[in-house]
Amino acid sequence: MQEKVNVAQFRRRAYRKKKVLAAFLKKLAKKNPKGLTKLTAQAEAETWKEINCQSCGNCCMTMTPTWKKSEVKRLAARLGMTYDEFYDKWLYTEESTGDIMNDSTPCQFFDQKNGLCTVYELRPHDCATFPHLYRKDFKDQVEVYTANLHRCPATLVAVEKLQELTKNIL
Ligand code: SF4
Ligand code: SF4
Repeated sequence: MQEKVNVAQFRRRAYRKKKVLAAFLKKLAKKNPKGLTKLTAQAEAETWKEINCQSCGNCCMTMTPTWKKSEVKRLAARLGMTYDEFYDKWLYTEESTGDIMNDSTPCQFFDQKNGLCTVYELRPHDCATFPHLYRKDFKDQVEVYTANLHRCPATLVAVEKLQELTKNIL
């Protein structure tokens, strides 16, 4: 396993660079240069060469996924529980959005010692696609980047890489 990601250090870096990166993303979204999708994909690919989620786990420790009912049903069945038993034990529904979420952190399925998801094959789609480094609409992408910049080291690195990759076109 790679060296443990120093999440606190990443968070400090994110807060320090927050304004600069927000201004950069705003400018990039406004300009929307040709080839931006490709550059975003390149930034993402380069990010995953540096960041290993198994050496971090901050999302599983501090955030909650959004569960689809079908995902709850599927995992509950695998665990020999009913939907209601699973829901009552671990979940709640957010009033404002109707989203089904974990009611506490760290996630009940996170193995903190080994940094692994114990239900990996049946984890929610939201977990499988987090931190959502690619959205078709770059304005949506900026919202996601901004929300996760201080929570997810991979997001910070991806934005920094994008800044570097676009420095000659902005
Ligand atoms: S289900 Fe797995 S991947 Fe998703 S938050 Fe829980 S431990 Fe992490
Ligand atoms: S997605 Fe981000 S917060 Fe989650 S484990 Fe990977 S780097 Fe850490």
